[in-house]
Amino acid sequence: MLELRGVSKFYQNQGNVVLGLRRVSATFNKGEFVAITGESGSGKSTLLNVISGLDKYDEGELLLNGESTSYFTIADLEKYRKEYIGFVFQDYNIIDAYTVYENVVAALVLQNYPKKKRKARALDLIERVGLTKQKNQKTSKLSGGQKQRVVIARALAKDAPIIVADEPTGNLDAKSGEMIMALLKEVSKDKLVIVVTHNYEQVKEHVTRKIHMFDGEIVEDKVISKVDEGVIIPATNKPTNLSGHLYFSWTNILRNPKKTIILLLSYVVLMAGTLVTVAARKQSLLDPMYYYHPFVENTFDTRVLVKKKDDSNFTNEEIEELYGNNYTKSVIHFDHVLDIVYSFKDSNNSQDGYYITLMLTPSSANTEIKEGRAPLNDKEIVIPDWYKGITKIHLNYGWNSINVLPFDVVGYNNEGRYIVHDSFLNQTTEQKIVESDFFVKTKLGGSVGYVMSIMGTNEGHAINRDIIRKNETLSDKIIVSRGFLIERTLELSNDDLVHITMFSDFYEKTGTYSVTIVEDNEAYLEVPSDIYVDLEESTTNQVSVILKDKLDANRFIKSLDNKYMALHPSSYRPGGTNIFSIGAIFLGLNALIFSIIILNIVVKNIYKAKNKDIAIMRSIGASKKDVRKIYILETVLTVFISTIFTIIAVFLLGKYAFKQNLLKILGASTTLLYVALFLLIGLWAINRFLNRLFGRTVIYTLRGNSDD
Ligand code: ADP
Ligand code: MG
Repeated sequence: MLELRGVSKFYQNQGNVVLGLRRVSATFNKGEFVAITGESGSGKSTLLNVISGLDKYDEGELLLNGESTSYFTIADLEKYRKEYIGFVFQDYNIIDAYTVYENVVAALVLQNYPKKKRKARALDLIERVGLTKQKNQKTSKLSGGQKQRVVIARALAKDAPIIVADEPTGNLDAKSGEMIMALLKEVSKDKLVIVVTHNYEQVKEHVTRKIHMFDGEIVEDKVISKVDEGVIIPATNKPTNLSGHLYFSWTNILRNPKKTIILLLSYVVLMAGTLVTVAARKQSLLDPMYYYHPFVENTFDTRVLVKKKDDSNFTNEEIEELYGNNYTKSVIHFDHVLDIVYSFKDSNNSQDGYYITLMLTPSSANTEIKEGRAPLNDKEIVIPDWYKGITKIHLNYGWNSINVLPFDVVGYNNEGRYIVHDSFLNQTTEQKIVESDFFVKTKLGGSVGYVMSIMGTNEGHAINRDIIRKNETLSDKIIVSRGFLIERTLELSNDDLVHITMFSDFYEKTGTYSVTIVEDNEAYLEVPSDIYVDLEESTTNQVSVILKDKLDANRFIKSLDNKYMALHPSSYRPGGTNIFSIGAIFLGLNALIFSIIILNIVVKNIYKAKNKDIAIMRSIGASKKDVRKIYILETVLTVFISTIFTIIAVFLLGKYAFKQNLLKILGASTTLLYVALFLLIGLWAINRFLNRLFGRTVIYTLRGNSDD
C-alpha cells in the first residue's frame, strides 16, 4: 500500500510562494479505483506528481508498503517510477514520431522484456485497447481517444502496479472519454488506479473511492466500495541493455527523417569541408608557391631518385627488382640524363638557331599534354606550346651540336617541357641497362652540367660548365685552346702542372696534368680519356623510378630494401614556417572551430524538439543514464553514417572538382583522426544538451516548458 503522511508542497513562482499541497494524508491500496476531483488549481496534479515520484515534496512523508521513501535519491526515484508507476496524462504523452506499436513496445524494451515475447505482448496489448488496425500508424495521425488508448496500452505494457491518470479524458469528447474510463476500470484489477477528473459523472460507475480537493487539501475522502489491503508488488524489471538502447537510437534516427537529414547534412558538409581543407593543406593545393628542390633540377611529381647507400652501381637484377615494385611505372636507368639541359633546332627552318634549353621529361611521368598526344617511341617528342607549328626538330644537348637527333613533334604542352618516350632515355624498350652511345657522349661531350676546376701551380681558377673534350690518346696532359685561354684569361704555359677536378653532382675525379697549349680559336679543353673512366663506370649508381601515382612516394620509399636510399624531390618543402604554412594551419583550425560552433547550434535546435520525447521516455521508466546512452549511441550512429557519406563526398569532390585523389592525400589515419574529432564534437554537443535538460524535472518539461 501507498501512504501519504502530512505531505506539503510549495512552488516558487516569480518570487512568490504558491501552495501546491497542504498536509495531505491518505492511504491507497491495490485494487482501488480512485477518482480525484476538485476545481482547477486545487492541487490534484501536484498530488499525482508526488505519488508518482515525478515531483518532490517539501514536508511530510510518502511510504511504500510501510517504508519511508524520504531517503530516495534521484536514481531511487527513477527506479520507483520505472517499477511502480504507469502514467496517463491529459495531453497524451506519447512519442509522436513513433508508430502505435513502437510506443507500446518502448515500455517493453526499457524493462528488457524478453526479446522473443516482446512483439506478441505488444500486439496483445494493442488488441486490448482496440488499436490493432492502427498498429503501424504514426501516433501523430491518431485521434485524441486513440492516443490515450496507446498511452494506456503502454502503461499496461509496463505492468506497473500503480496507474496514475491526470485528466485522461480532458481533451476527449464524451463518448471517447467514457471508453477510456471503462478501459482504465478494466485494467484496474490487481492495480491501484488513481484518476484525476473534472467530470465525476464519467467515472461514477467505476470508482471504488472518491477524493475531493480544495486549496491544496483533501476535503472529502469517501470510500464507495471497500477493497482488501495488500502489498503493492513492483513490476518485474531488468535494466535496459545495450540492444534496448540501440533500439531507441535507431528508431529515433528512422522516425525523425527530417531531423536526421538535417543532422547528417550538417555533419557531412562540415566533415567534408574540414577534410578537404586538411587535404589541401597536406598537398599545398592552396599554396601559391611551387618549391624547387635545391639540388635536383628536373622535378616532376612521380620522380623518385634511388641510389645505393654504398654508392655502388646497380646490377641488372637490382634494376629488374625496381621494375617489379608495385608502385613502379618505369625506371630511368641513367638518372643523370633527366638533369641535363637540351635545346633543339627546327628541322624545317635551317635559318633558325637553337631554341630554349630544357630538361627532358619521360612520357611515363604522365605530365599533361595540351594538344596532340604523348610520344610512343624514341623518335617522337612533345614540345612547349609556345613552339606550336614546329613539326620536326633536331634535339641537342646544351648549346652544342656534338650529337643531334631528329624527332617528330607529336604534341604540345603548356608546362614548358620536352617530353620524350622512356625508351629514348633508356635507349631501349627492354628492362635492362643498356650502354647508350647518345648518353655516353652526353656525359662526356659538352656542357653537360659538370663542374671543372683547374688549380694552377700558383693560383686556382674555377671553371664551370665549360667545353671539355675527351682525347683518347692523351695520358698525362691536357690541351688548352687559345680561345679558352683568352676567354678565361688563365695564365697557363706549356708544361705547367695543373690539378684538375672534374665533378658532377654525383661523381668526382682529380688528377695532376701538364698543359699543352694549341693555336685554336675554339674554346675547349682536351683532357685525357682516363679522367672519364671512373665517371663512365659509375653511370648507373643512381636511377630514377617513375611512380604510377605521386601519392605513393612515401609508400614506395618505405617498400625499398634497406640498402637503398631514395629522394622524392617534389615532396620537398623548405623548412621552417612561412606565412603560407601558418595560413594553412589556421585554415584547418578554423574549419574545426567553425564545425564545433555549427554542430552545437544544430544539435541544440534539433534535440530541443526532443525534450518532450525524452521526458516521456523518463516517465515510462528510462533513467537519465538510459537516455544518455540512447543519445550517445544515436550520435555514434549518426557520425558513422555521416562518415560514409563524407568519404563518398570527398572522393567525388576530389575526382571532379580538384582532380586529385583527396582520400589518398589524407590517408586512412588522418581521416580517422578527424572522424574521431567530429565524434567527440558531436558527443560533447549532445552531452551539453542533456546536461541542460536534466537540470529540470521531468514534469517541468512535460508541461511544455522550454527555456532555451
Ligand atoms: P490542479 O491540477 O488541481 O489544477 P495543480 O496541482 O496543477 O492543480 O496546481 C496547484 C497549485 O500549484 C496551483 O495554484 C498552481 O498554480 C500551482 N502550481 C502547480 N505547478 C506549479 C509550478 N510548476 N510552478 C508554480 N506553481 C505551480
Ligand atoms: Mg491539473
